[in-house]
Amino acid sequence: MEEQSRCWFCHRSDAEVSAFTAVETPKEREILQQKSQVTSSKADFVQSADAWRKGFPKELKEFDFKFVTSNADQFKSIRIANGLLGEIADPSKLLGEVAGAKKLTVDRLEKAAPILRKGEGDVPGFGALSHFEKADRELLRGMVEQFEAKWHRRIGSDGSRGDPSGYKQGFDGLKLFEGLDFMIAVGMLYYDVQTQLLDMARRIEINSKPKKGVSVLLVSGYPPIPLCSVCVDVMKGLSVEHAVPQQVLAAPTPQIVNVA
Ligand SMILES: [Zn+2]
Repeated sequence: MEEQSRCWFCHRSDAEVSAFTAVETPKEREILQQKSQVTSSKADFVQSADAWRKGFPKELKEFDFKFVTSNADQFKSIRIANGLLGEIADPSKLLGEVAGAKKLTVDRLEKAAPILRKGEGDVPGFGALSHFEKADRELLRGMVEQFEAKWHRRIGSDGSRGDPSGYKQGFDGLKLFEGLDFMIAVGMLYYDVQTQLLDMARRIEINSKPKKGVSVLLVSGYPPIPLCSVCVDVMKGLSVEHAVPQQVLAAPTPQIVNVA
């Protein structure tokens, strides 16, 4: 059995040929780089989230999250005017940092969420969702829907009234610390969705590569023989027409020849 799966010319096994020829494509390398970037950005985000939770001005806890983070600069002058923000060194800087991080994560996922939920359309940076298999699209939809069900809140506000789910929209009605919690959770989901999309794109790239290995081939003038893709390429390169192998569907059945 072992012998049968070795190339007749070079004697390499199927596994040896696969390993020998498993070269990453530039696209695969790019995807892996992007993935490690996402991983390190997520780690930074987690670390920052801790600092935000600790440093957020408690004096503003009754304020609306959206209002505070989109008007971070205004809170500089308030501190000077009445000391409202107490001992915190520069809360406006922290508020601005959160607003900036939100733009890079939450705002992007807000745009992508309706597309992921529907399972169709273009995901920014990844192209058409139809490119991916149904099971993958379902998985992404599940990530969004489970998150929204848990929070009872849509990731973004699509402006439509009377959502049949009864969910709240985006940051509507969230005070400072509740909004921060929601923002951090959506941000984490953003990185998880990115990772998932990159894994899916990588799988497509790997599957699209021609399979390398040993298969039983037919070379005219010979009985079917196991040949590896490397040796086949060499034979094709030599353009020996009668020697260009063709795929046979199954391993050959031994023929019984009657000798009279
Ligand atoms: Zn070979």
